[in-house]
Amino acid sequence: MKYISTRGGMQPVTYSEALLEGLAPDGGLAVPETLPTVSPDQIESWRPLSYPELATEVLSLFATDIAREDLKRMCHAAYSADKFVADAIVPLTPIDEGMSLVGLSEGPTLAFKDMAMQFLGQAMEYALRKRGSVLNIVGATSGDTGSAAEYALRGKDGISVFMLSPQGRMSDFQRAQMYSLTDDNIHNIAIDGVFDDCQNLLKAVSGDLAFKREHHLGTVNSINLGRISAQVVYYFWAWLRSSDQLDASARETHRVSFTVPSGNFGNILSGHYAKSMGLPIHRLVLAANENNVLDEFFRTGIYRPRGADRTYATSSPSMDISKASNLERFIFDLLGRDSQRLAAAWRTLDESGELDLSAEQPRFAAQFGLQSGTSTHADRVATIRSVHESSGVVIDPHTADGVKVAREHAEAGVTMLVLETAKPTKFPDIVGEAIGEAAPLPDHLAGLLELSQHVTEMDNDATQLRDFISRHAVTQA
Ligand SMILES: *Cc1c(COP(=O)(O)O)cnc(C)c1O
Repeated sequence: MKYISTRGGMQPVTYSEALLEGLAPDGGLAVPETLPTVSPDQIESWRPLSYPELATEVLSLFATDIAREDLKRMCHAAYSADKFVADAIVPLTPIDEGMSLVGLSEGPTLAFKDMAMQFLGQAMEYALRKRGSVLNIVGATSGDTGSAAEYALRGKDGISVFMLSPQGRMSDFQRAQMYSLTDDNIHNIAIDGVFDDCQNLLKAVSGDLAFKREHHLGTVNSINLGRISAQVVYYFWAWLRSSDQLDASARETHRVSFTVPSGNFGNILSGHYAKSMGLPIHRLVLAANENNVLDEFFRTGIYRPRGADRTYATSSPSMDISKASNLERFIFDLLGRDSQRLAAAWRTLDESGELDLSAEQPRFAAQFGLQSGTSTHADRVATIRSVHESSGVVIDPHTADGVKVAREHAEAGVTMLVLETAKPTKFPDIVGEAIGEAAPLPDHLAGLLELSQHVTEMDNDATQLRDFISRHAVTQA
């Protein structure tokens, strides 16, 4: 299996190569040359497998350049009991009649990004070792992505992490999570500024191509192909688990839809891939918050990204995204995997700020099963409250966006699985507003807030940052 660019300007590369690169050289995104396919019998044969065993099967279809024994070892290391709280790794929890949560937040940072990052950490270390190379990951975070990356890459050979965060602007929990790490290869840098300042510093440093090459700088952002492929696994897992209790004949007629709280279109893209590979998913429902560029796109066929000035800060902050980087991969499929049409569409988008695919819009649901909806702050509060009242389960605001939109798309006779993307512990304010008390810290994290913290405070200054990276970067052996 080789990987090509959506825009057609890249020689095919292996999985290991694709996961170490960011954008393709032509500005496009790496996609499989052809998606692997699986038969119903093959899916059924995976039913007895544990999560790491299933991950090995699914990922071996993508990572054909990695020896199976190595892949198996990496999947077991990524999805192990010392990293994930639930025995199942990904548990299903019923909340409504015919509706369950898919628990993707059992990992070290209590959010679904751990699912992909834990595997990516293993796979990157492996790919770098084979290549005889090193990587210095530089990132900017307002909280969640940075911590998932640090927990996945801590202690890895040949990799260092430089994570910029805005000083004094993260929650106590987020700070404690990141800054309490003591691994030598993790560098937390608190910038005297806001998140945008951190991003601008990141751009200044990684846009300096000579510096970037000299210090082997890289990223682990949401377009990373390793992340997308690792997320495909839990769609198969959840689909199988949702029919474990049925007898064989009921399994054949059993229908399953997924609802996915979305921002950068990474998580739901993996669902689109699972469906394209042959997993019989009935509908893939995208849930947006007030920053509903993607809901607008799926309803009208017109994609109109919004700038930072028109992106609201909401109470489901990880979905405050108005330009969905992974959407390009779906549109590539929509346009018949024709890279010339895709590249032309993206030129139009860059020039006019808008992409009009309204002629294709009926196919979104008919061919791809994609539907969408929007949820607001008031919806989140009401949904957290009603799920708590009806089932006793406390959900986080992102998952609440999902449940709100899922309920609007519920169909008789179709099981609806809502992806739980974070734990409520991380969002005490809105959870308190909804049910009168914040969700407590889980037992295994008691004491986190008291641990000593390690962080370098720095001015909003690219020269200081370059100096710091030069002094601490991991260098070629
Ligand atoms: C990142 C994130 C999302 C959005 O996922 P995408 O892959 O960007 O669509 C939703 N919820 C939470 C809690 C997240 O951290």
